Amino acid sequence: MSLARNTQKCPFCKETIAAGAKRCKHCHSDLRASKKTWFTGLNNFRSGFLGGVLFAVVLFVLGYLHFT
Ligand SMILES: [Zn+2]
Repeated sequence: MSLARNTQKCPFCKETIAAGAKRCKHCHSDLRASKKTWFTGLNNFRSGFLGGVLFAVVLFVLGYLHFT
């Protein structure tokens, strides 16, 4: 039981690795959260921004077609 608490699953290869491991011993993927969080945050910001722009364009076109 204590062994299971100190392990986690690698998100890339699904092998059991030590909790808090910085690098998977099976597939050698980088598991450090800081780098991933920064990158994911940037991607979320970009997709959110693009979604907002698309939404604004659709609203603008709909309004333009409606009022002319
Ligand atoms: Zn792995």
